Amino acid sequence: MHRLYENSDIVVFWNSEKCFHAKKCVTGSPKTFDITRKPWIDVTLADNAEIWQTIEKCPSGALGVVYRHGIDVIVDLDNNRSVAYDGKLEVGECDYSVSEKGWTIYHTEVREEYGGKGIAKRLVYKVIETAEKKHVSIGATCSYAIKVME
Ligand code: SF4
Repeated sequence: MHRLYENSDIVVFWNSEKCFHAKKCVTGSPKTFDITRKPWIDVTLADNAEIWQTIEKCPSGALGVVYRHGIDVIVDLDNNRSVAYDGKLEVGECDYSVSEKGWTIYHTEVREEYGGKGIAKRLVYKVIETAEKKHVSIGATCSYAIKVME
């Protein structure tokens, strides 16, 4: 399971397949990571420095974090893609095809001047998260998306 959690400044990634429940996150930022709550991650309840430092101590790599840089990432179901916007400017997209077998991500791209901000990962995660919530199988031929999925 892949999930995204965001506040106005940061975006947190969580991949349950990597998590081996060492619970370093729960002790590091108990308000953020609470396994008795659904969803168990809430990035609005502690300061960003505490959340960031806690995520850096996750031993499995299940957690990741990037700054938002004011970029919004949404899913555009009508056009089979996720899209990143800086205000009204489209700065990246992740496209997937749809078949009876599920969704397949075949292309991920971010404008060169917006590179290095974690936007591509957010785009791929958004598609995967949406597919998982809809109980649709998800795969990829895009090499970047394959890397994220691994
Ligand atoms: S610290 Fe990482 S591996 Fe441990 S429970 Fe939290 S997310 Fe999972």
